[in-house]
Amino acid sequence: MRSTDTFEAWQERADLLRPRLQAFVDGRFVDAASGKTFDCISPIDGRVLGQVADCAAEDVDRAVLSARTAFDAGHWSNLSPSKRKRILLRLAQLVQDNAEELALLESLDMGKPVSDALHVDVSASIRCLTWTAEAIDKVYDEVAPTGPGELGLITREPLGVVAAIVPWNFPLLMASWKLAPALAMGNSVILKPSEKSPLSVLRLAELAIEAGLPHGVFNVLPGFGKTAGEPLALHMDVDGLVFTGSTAVGKHLLQCAGRSNMKRAYMECGGKSPNIVFADADNLRHAAKAAASGIFYNQGEVCTAASRLLVDRSIKDAFIEQVVEFGQRMQPRHPFEPGAPMGAMVDEDQTGRVLSYIERGQEEGARLVLGGNRVHPVAGGCYVEPTIFDDVAHEATISREEIFGPVLSVIPFDSEDEALRIANDTPYGLAAGVWTSDLNRAHRMARRLRAGSVWVNYWDGGDMTAPFGGYKQSGNGRDKSLHAFDKYTELKATWINLAD
Ligand code: NAD
Repeated sequence: MRSTDTFEAWQERADLLRPRLQAFVDGRFVDAASGKTFDCISPIDGRVLGQVADCAAEDVDRAVLSARTAFDAGHWSNLSPSKRKRILLRLAQLVQDNAEELALLESLDMGKPVSDALHVDVSASIRCLTWTAEAIDKVYDEVAPTGPGELGLITREPLGVVAAIVPWNFPLLMASWKLAPALAMGNSVILKPSEKSPLSVLRLAELAIEAGLPHGVFNVLPGFGKTAGEPLALHMDVDGLVFTGSTAVGKHLLQCAGRSNMKRAYMECGGKSPNIVFADADNLRHAAKAAASGIFYNQGEVCTAASRLLVDRSIKDAFIEQVVEFGQRMQPRHPFEPGAPMGAMVDEDQTGRVLSYIERGQEEGARLVLGGNRVHPVAGGCYVEPTIFDDVAHEATISREEIFGPVLSVIPFDSEDEALRIANDTPYGLAAGVWTSDLNRAHRMARRLRAGSVWVNYWDGGDMTAPFGGYKQSGNGRDKSLHAFDKYTELKATWINLAD
């Protein structure tokens, strides 16, 4: 551990921090048109970090006008791919140069361990920006296979103005997954962070200007869903709407797109992912450790949390004993403590929601084998113990609904077919895991699981090279990889008559 990674060092840095709290429109920080603000509260200890601009319809109009003007001016949209690449690479470098500050903002704002914010969120955001930037000048358009009398060109064009609405669990990373491909393709972007975690992307906007992004190409509007998000979703001059968040809000935003100008709309939504352990898995201890970190990492506030653990009944009791052992080690601590396995829940609302699901689990007869309580490693903060319910009925509320907290439901099964049926019997389809040493079974299960990502003998694999997204009500469209560009471009067919 470096001396700069100690609790005291992070605390000192936090004391010196002066977060940006205004909206970012047309290349500068401005107050909300109404002058309204809302308190930004740290879930670590309940401290108010500052008053953030509370944007609404008038701010949306301003930001859309700025984004449209920038797009039409062409300083970004018509810039050569290699020049766009250089500017995005510079932004990635600036994120790297300011990594500790960004990690700290993330941790203070939404409660995750600062070391995770630094080594996962900020690192992955840098990789996303870098990978996407590198791809910009390597993507070719197409020529249609025509006869000699005509030429058919198939070209990608940017959508224009893209609104991106993102959640609070990985604020900088979810923003980067949208921002990087949208900018790479030449769009102007208006980003609405969650009201629970606006700080890191406000700093990112400042870095984008420093990197050379023209004014108006990237705007940030902090504010609430109803008052800032919805006017964006309904705006007649927004061409694309990309969203990461809950399925309920995603469905609503699809309606907003339909009710307004049929803007292109892509939703990345919730999950209730099955992690399936067969008795023939090679290393059950490793699987048990992954089962615990798969649900407790980031306080369980992960769209791909391994929230349903399906275990072969013949090994279940011994296996769950080990999952409990690993879970016990993941008690929440102050997020600045080196090696803290869990930090704080994002806020009081989310804490209450998780605790009410725990209560519901007990009422519905599941057997609590670990945790179940709010705890207080830091006075005034929002902390919930790692919690495991065994023998959960597949029909129980806690095994059907997304809890978005550190609560694991263990469901036994007796056959491969039964495991598959339970795994797929959910409105969601984001991710699934399979633990087995039988190659045929691994392939069979991977093919039959209705999920956008399937992991065999590990959990949460993947990088920028593969698309990420959901089947069913976990969403449409894909983030990451070259497939992400599809969301931010129109395909144009241009036909040229070459006949004499
Ligand atoms: P949420 O749906 O409550 O909010 C997400 C964003 O939408 C926020 O910025 C919020 O202000 C905004 N919003 C809320 N109501 C709105 C409205 N009526 N109009 C416009 N905008 C509105 O979700 P959350 O609580 O921030 O995040 C948790 C959810 O995100 C979970 O369901 C999780 O699974 C999902 N998630 C999915 C992915 C993925 O890639 N599929 C990744 C991370 C999180």
